[in-house]
Amino acid sequence: MTDATSVAYAITPPPIAALPIVGSSALFPVNRVFCIGRNYAAHAVEMGHDPDKEPPFFFFKHPSNITTDGTFPYPTQTSDVHHEVEMVVALKSGGTDIAVSDALAHVYGYGVGLDMTRRDLQGEAKKLGRPWEVGKSFEKSGPCGPLVPASQIGHPDSGAVLLKVNGEVRQEGDLNQMLWKVPEMIAILSQFFELQPGDIIMSGTPSGVGAVERGDIMVASVAGVGEITVTVN
Ligand code: MN
Repeated sequence: MTDATSVAYAITPPPIAALPIVGSSALFPVNRVFCIGRNYAAHAVEMGHDPDKEPPFFFFKHPSNITTDGTFPYPTQTSDVHHEVEMVVALKSGGTDIAVSDALAHVYGYGVGLDMTRRDLQGEAKKLGRPWEVGKSFEKSGPCGPLVPASQIGHPDSGAVLLKVNGEVRQEGDLNQMLWKVPEMIAILSQFFELQPGDIIMSGTPSGVGAVERGDIMVASVAGVGEITVTVN
């Protein structure tokens, strides 16, 4: 990272978060992790909200929350950790005020991810009008699978989004149920942020979110994109 002519860091810099890529030995470096809230009507309803298409809202996970080792350590300070299966959208380029019609040209590829959530702490934060980070952006809260390049699979806009716990289907939706489609979420994000190569978007979860316990085995999949198995320990 450093050489004789570069900056000397006072402490060791943190590692670069990265995702594997199907069919490649190269890694995809993760810059920022944007998450979209309430992007499937049925999930909005189960969380107590109006299913009508409201403007999208976003929150962040920290890039270091992304893991790929197939485990999810049960976090501290909660007794109600929920699974949220989501399609991950990875950007190879960025910009501001990206047109919907240009948005997919910025996508490198897609993956399967879990937006693990301390639901009790998120609920408390909502009630008090506080930020969501303690509920959403904690260590290892973003188990993800490898990315599949769009050059191989195109840009999926329909297909099953599934999550099973110990073999039982808990979440079952379809990409075509997204209120805000991938090109729209990229366009809208780019109105608020200068999108950058390496940014990823967790694109929201279908209904059926629920709690996991230590020992549970989660299998999350997005049709045509991939499947991951994650053990809660
Ligand atoms: Mn989510």
